Amino acid sequence: MAVERTLSIIKPDATRRNLTGKINAKFEDGGLRIVAQKRVQLSKAQAEAFYGVHRERGFFNDLVSFMISGPVVLQVLEGENAIARNREIMGATNPANAAEGTIRKEFAESIEANSVHGSDAPETAAQEIAFFFAGTEIVA
Ligand code: ADP
Ligand code: MG
Repeated sequence: MAVERTLSIIKPDATRRNLTGKINAKFEDGGLRIVAQKRVQLSKAQAEAFYGVHRERGFFNDLVSFMISGPVVLQVLEGENAIARNREIMGATNPANAAEGTIRKEFAESIEANSVHGSDAPETAAQEIAFFFAGTEIVA
């Protein structure tokens, strides 16, 4: 195992319900450290670029509208195996399939409004962190 960093986003459905602290407790209790964090309103262009890999999917336009429907909390999480660990803490994309105790099982409203984003591999983690954070904003 190695210490990794991953990009996390607390999505608008969760900020709307004031769940930032409860979700952060899941990360910290799960062994991850929040080494950068900022609450922002994404622009349409930012959301489209961030989710560009999904541009051809039928849900793309709805997803972009959802992601700009309210503030999000952008975070860098650090820890042993942080990318896979965070995916475990988040749970499956569809909350109907998410394991007990996961963020999505406890908090997600739907497959779209599923409360959190987490990077899926080392390459995407590095790209996604650089998309939102300057190196000087990340303090281990
Ligand atoms: P994950 O966030 O678990 O990595 P994906 O990368 O496949 O999942 O999808 C990105 C996001 O797009 C999901 O978190 C969810 O908000 C949305 N999404 C995925 N699949 C669907 C779907 N079938 N219908 C609506 N929204 C979806
Ligand atoms: Mg994904």
